[in-house]
Amino acid sequence: MTLGNGIRTGAQYIAGLQDEREVWTRGKRVADVTTEPGIKRGVQTLAGFLDRQHDEKYRDTVTYQDNDGSRCAMSFKIPKSKEDILAKGRAYYEWAKWSNGMFGRTPDYKNASVMSFASATSFLAQGTKGQADFSQNMTNFYDHVRTNDKVLTHTLVNPQISHAQAAAGKFSSEVALHVVKETDAGIIVNGARLLATLGPSADEIEVFPSTVLRADPANEPFAFAFAIPIATKGLKMICRDTYDHGKSHFDAPLASRFEEMDAVVIFDNVLVPWERVFMYGEPELCNQAFGATNAVVHMAHQVACGKLAKAEFLTGILVSILKATGRDRDLAMKGMVSEVMLMTETIRALLYQAEAEAHEDEYGNFIPLRSPLDTSRNLFPKYYPRMVEILQMMGSSSLMATPAEADFANDLTPDVLQYFQVANLDSKDRVALYRLAHDVAVSGFGNRQALYERFFFGPPHLMHAAYFDLYDKDRVTDRVDALLAES
Ligand SMILES: Cc1cc2nc3c(=O)[nH]c(=O)nc-3n(C[C@H](O)[C@H](O)[C@H](O)COP(=O)(O)OP(=O)(O)OC[C@H]3O[C@@H](n4cnc5c(N)ncnc54)[C@H](O)[C@@H]3O)c2cc1C
Repeated sequence: MTLGNGIRTGAQYIAGLQDEREVWTRGKRVADVTTEPGIKRGVQTLAGFLDRQHDEKYRDTVTYQDNDGSRCAMSFKIPKSKEDILAKGRAYYEWAKWSNGMFGRTPDYKNASVMSFASATSFLAQGTKGQADFSQNMTNFYDHVRTNDKVLTHTLVNPQISHAQAAAGKFSSEVALHVVKETDAGIIVNGARLLATLGPSADEIEVFPSTVLRADPANEPFAFAFAIPIATKGLKMICRDTYDHGKSHFDAPLASRFEEMDAVVIFDNVLVPWERVFMYGEPELCNQAFGATNAVVHMAHQVACGKLAKAEFLTGILVSILKATGRDRDLAMKGMVSEVMLMTETIRALLYQAEAEAHEDEYGNFIPLRSPLDTSRNLFPKYYPRMVEILQMMGSSSLMATPAEADFANDLTPDVLQYFQVANLDSKDRVALYRLAHDVAVSGFGNRQALYERFFFGPPHLMHAAYFDLYDKDRVTDRVDALLAES
């Protein structure tokens, strides 16, 4: 492990991606993700964000000085007070505003998780199988990613041939990632994982369990957690179709900037060195990991800050449309937009409560209050598609009345300038606004965003069931019991 100097520049990040990684898109292997059409502009966007860490305007919000002297991303800071939690929240929110929440997988998401695992050292120390000091491995990994400002992705979900088999807690070794061999050097894994957002343009991938593993010896080969560089031999990424079709920022304001790419990950007999293994062969430990380390709380904190920025942005687009069309006095229209305002302010209130009630955890670190964050991450997958639906209802055919930027500089220009004006905007500004709305509510990029919001934290039915299990039910049933006892 080589310690770095903390925050990197965008140029350093881009240089780091020019390695031997095996990424496939559109039927061919990518030679260099930093120059590949459909991927490269997302890389450039993230590089620009990393540069902002050095910018005086943002530096004190998004970075901190660690005890070892390095200036690191705030998301790596181990919180020791409520003020630290508030500072981390401000950093998450700042990062999210840079893309208005449209670049969902900024590195602070995974940084929050690594920080949690590394600061809950006694949890991983419980692992007894395999040839490694798992707790020390995580401490080393944390120092590695923190001081080298590594960009991580993660993949948690196994593909399944049969949903019935999966529901019974079984995995198919034909497709699911599993250990095939243990050697002195490490474990050899084979199989596939769904899905790695940002995978092709990350430095390293964390491969952790999230699906509940039955504590059955048959499941031990599927129970592990590790992290390896994307360029590891035998690791392949198969990208979905890109939504960045090379259009201008005017024509595709979001897709031209924030294509973060998702990929299925194949592990073709990949050797994972012991020093990069964090859990091994213990399904019960794997099942507890995200909860017991409070990683889920810190990740949900980052997510709530990002969703607030995103909800505010959608509210802003809707208000801009109302103003442009002069319909901001129409009661029905105001009602539709206020529904989105209510959702936005609900997320803000939940975030506020979580931060206001931050408290010390069992490891001596601080965490936000979990329950409002759980509420937020169960609500937003419902809120976001509804916000998009309202944008579609309000945008209607204007979402289709979208001539291209080139039409403002060709023989059609007089027509375009004449026929696309609206009450309070000239044609070009109106088209720009509706093209933005289109990229949220209609385009492939926009539809993938809605799918992402529905699923990225896990299948809704499982999330809801977990919410039910964790809910303080006695608090509500006691009063029912008390009333019944009176009769
Ligand atoms: C855009 C996008 C990005 C993603 N990025 C990542 C990533 O970076 N890393 C990562 O690890 N994962 C990622 N995911 C994957 C995500 O974690 C999974 O999509 C999610 O966990 C759901 O799993 P699944 O897709 O296998 O759905 P399934 O489990 O097949 O579920 C499909 C549908 O059926 C419903 N369902 C299934 N079983 C039941 C049941 N018993 N009762 C009721 N309803 C049921 C589910 O609620 C869901 O609506 C991403 C997903 C998307 C869409």
